[in-house]
Amino acid sequence: MNKEVNEKRCYKCKEAKPLEEFHNDRRCYADGKKGICKPCRSKQYYENNTEYLKQYSKQYYENNAERKMNWQRQYRKRIMSEGTACVYGLYLKEDIKYIGETLCLERRKKEHHRHLDAPRSHRNKKLQEEFDKHNLFKDDVTFKILVEFNKDEYESEELLKEALLVEEAVQIAAHKERGVDLYNSNDGGPGGEL
Ligand SMILES: [Zn+2]
Repeated sequence: MNKEVNEKRCYKCKEAKPLEEFHNDRRCYADGKKGICKPCRSKQYYENNTEYLKQYSKQYYENNAERKMNWQRQYRKRIMSEGTACVYGLYLKEDIKYIGETLCLERRKKEHHRHLDAPRSHRNKKLQEEFDKHNLFKDDVTFKILVEFNKDEYESEELLKEALLVEEAVQIAAHKERGVDLYNSNDGGPGGEL
């Protein structure tokens, strides 16, 4: 008996469902609940507004794609205008251990520091191992600019990146020739493993 009171039959799907399955409608219904259950109502709404909803989601997607592109453009612009583009040496204590290239040394320093120090998840395993083995701190990791690049001299980020990668390879070779033991991986791929 009690069950009957807490349930209602949907006029659309004809199923008896708990009252929470119906939206409130105090104006039109004595029991304060609509005659159609929530799922049926959603379905009905969708069927009655298919075109509108399709248009709406398409618009939403397009707006977002544009926002995303704008953001990327802004980001690249900032990278090209701010910070130091260079080939740099990473030092543990006094010794150079790694040579890298970057469009923005300020940002790259933070990345190195963050990975080595906090999650200890630097992509260069040997570097991470040495850092851990000697119980080093963030301040033990320092950076020196080996060759600085003038961003204004390059037409695009791609061209600058290319020049950086070439210089990085030159610097690695030169240091290795002098017998410096670097932790750069020897796979020949772009040195920017981080
Ligand atoms: Zn229903």
